[in-house]
Amino acid sequence: MKKTLFVMFLGLMAIAGCSREEKNDNPFLNKYDTPFEMPPFEQIRAAHFMPAFLKGFEEQRKEIQDIINNPDNPTFNNTIKPMEYSGQLLTKVGDVFSPLNSANTNDTLQKINKELSPLYSRHNDDINLNDSLFQRVKYVNEHKDVFNLTAEEKKVLDDTYKSFVRSGAALNTEDKAKLRKINEEMSLLSVQFGENLLAETNGYKLVIDKKEDLAGLPEGVISQAAAMAKSLEMEGKWVFTLQVPSMTPFLQYSSRRDLREKLFTGYFMKGDNDNERDNKSIIAKIARLRIERSHLLGYKSYAAFVLEKNMAKNPEKVTEFLGKVWAAAIPVAKEEVISMQEMIYKEGGKFKLMPWDWWYYTEKIKKEKYDLDDEMTRPYFQIDNVMEGMFYVANRLYSLEFNEREDLPKYHPDVKTFEVTRDNKHVGVLMIDNYPRPSKRGGAWCGAYRGQSCDINGKMITPIVTMVTNSTPPTAGEPSLLTSEEASTLFHEFGHALHQLLSNSTYPGVSGTSVPRDFVELPSQIMEHWVLEPEVLKVYAKHFKTGEVIPAELVDKLDKAGKFNMGFVTVEYLAAALLDMEYHTLTEPAELDIREFEKKAMEKYSLIPEIKPRYRSTYFNHIWSSGYASGYYSYIWCEILDADAFQAFKETGDIFNKEVAAKFEEEILSKGGTRDPLAMYIAFRGKEPGIEALLLNRGLKQP
Ligand SMILES: [Zn+2]
Repeated sequence: MKKTLFVMFLGLMAIAGCSREEKNDNPFLNKYDTPFEMPPFEQIRAAHFMPAFLKGFEEQRKEIQDIINNPDNPTFNNTIKPMEYSGQLLTKVGDVFSPLNSANTNDTLQKINKELSPLYSRHNDDINLNDSLFQRVKYVNEHKDVFNLTAEEKKVLDDTYKSFVRSGAALNTEDKAKLRKINEEMSLLSVQFGENLLAETNGYKLVIDKKEDLAGLPEGVISQAAAMAKSLEMEGKWVFTLQVPSMTPFLQYSSRRDLREKLFTGYFMKGDNDNERDNKSIIAKIARLRIERSHLLGYKSYAAFVLEKNMAKNPEKVTEFLGKVWAAAIPVAKEEVISMQEMIYKEGGKFKLMPWDWWYYTEKIKKEKYDLDDEMTRPYFQIDNVMEGMFYVANRLYSLEFNEREDLPKYHPDVKTFEVTRDNKHVGVLMIDNYPRPSKRGGAWCGAYRGQSCDINGKMITPIVTMVTNSTPPTAGEPSLLTSEEASTLFHEFGHALHQLLSNSTYPGVSGTSVPRDFVELPSQIMEHWVLEPEVLKVYAKHFKTGEVIPAELVDKLDKAGKFNMGFVTVEYLAAALLDMEYHTLTEPAELDIREFEKKAMEKYSLIPEIKPRYRSTYFNHIWSSGYASGYYSYIWCEILDADAFQAFKETGDIFNKEVAAKFEEEILSKGGTRDPLAMYIAFRGKEPGIEALLLNRGLKQP
């Protein structure tokens, strides 16, 4: 059972009397009559979703009630297993709805999504706080030794039990009421934080009305700013905003230091202007409520509560890791400061480098040092070739074959569909959807229209995986030509796809990518290591017109430029990750003075004055309103894993070493969430990951 779909619906609506056996014109209520039982996209209409969801809620509610009503003593087989397999219709329709709503949405789907969201969350609460159900789960957990469970079943039981306890199911009535109140208050504060931040971001504009104030800016940046002004009815002027795509180019290219300072100050003071949109008191309240909530649930701090279910396990481990990378990155950042300061003096400047100067001098030094820009490499990264390259890597590592199939159902003409096989046996289906369009949200991601698992009788259900990107589209005269970063993104998402395709678990709740946030990027980020390997490049990075393989000197430039400015990039990221940990390792509720708290936290780590944390407290959306509290470290944590794991290949002298690949598949990709992540990693590598490889990759340490 998917945890997100673990829901129950009270306001039932019966669907005009038809049983599942009869043929219904709602495709979700029939067995899919398509190759590999793919969703019949051409037949699915928006009007089919809500009735199927409602029926799905009803079915699961009944299934859960049957479990509770069972007069026998609770066992794994009469409680946990039927819970895992409950809500199948809900999973079936949700598996189609959410990926479609991201990749090919419209007003109707968005409206349905809004209606669904409170229904789902109410049911989460109703099930997670259902005492009769919890008592059965608790009983099974207390008697687990008598049930002869497999390792996977033990993990499913443990996950289920903990998820109840962590939601407050074990509390007495009075504390449950307190918890509900805290939850409500916190969710309101989070929404308020987000609204303030949006208003602060949109409320600031740098308006330029004299041409000389545009000094240094490239034509493209100027015309974007003119278009922005026009859209704001300020025709003839130029407007820069605090949105990254508008602000960053200004900081990179404007030679007007006073204006860079003005714009960047607008940015780093967001939410900290002592006005009606100020976020400081909101943050202080959220931080305090999180501590109270953790105490109620029996944890010392909010970080202790969150990290228990992550690979890192506890806050000490996270701060220790971050501290080690910090110690390596700070000296590199200081050297970067020195070389920028030298350039300032060389140009006759008489000032000290400040945070608003960083992007500008980085850009200058990069040009001087590497003479590289994206347009030089694009012709070698034609999208079909890049996909050939990633299929080639998967074939060398895991013997997978990818055969394009034109005959399978698709939800949009841009989608390319591949049947994935190994030794002529069907493994799954991979759908790839690469180009931007208005119905698709930004970014890149990987999901599944059906996850791998076994059905209740143990029969294998093969996955239908989807990867979605917003890559440079083809034009009338040219095919899609990618930047090297876009090529990496394809390999990255393909890594998530392999994690889904090679999953081999029994229970749906622990299959595929159902792993903690600080582990899930290992399978994806490791794939990025193959993109620029010469052995791989010579297979796919061919000039789209001449077929010539990308020249070695260009590859060398790409490699070196990739390590450039990593002191700054690492330090500004880590400063935010450490700030996150400082807030969430507090153990006593206190009235925080946010400015003072942040200042002290950064002094504790001796952050240099030339760098601001990537996010200051008052605009750190990740931790106050989007689920990353005590989790912002995950990105670099996973980099420690992928860098170390790729070393396992490198050390053999063969980046396609079959034995290492087999072990990676056996211990990590096929295991999904059936084991503890650290145990999986050690089973693969023979030891815990070290940070050496990460430091070398980022150029923070010399080989
Ligand atoms: Zn990812």
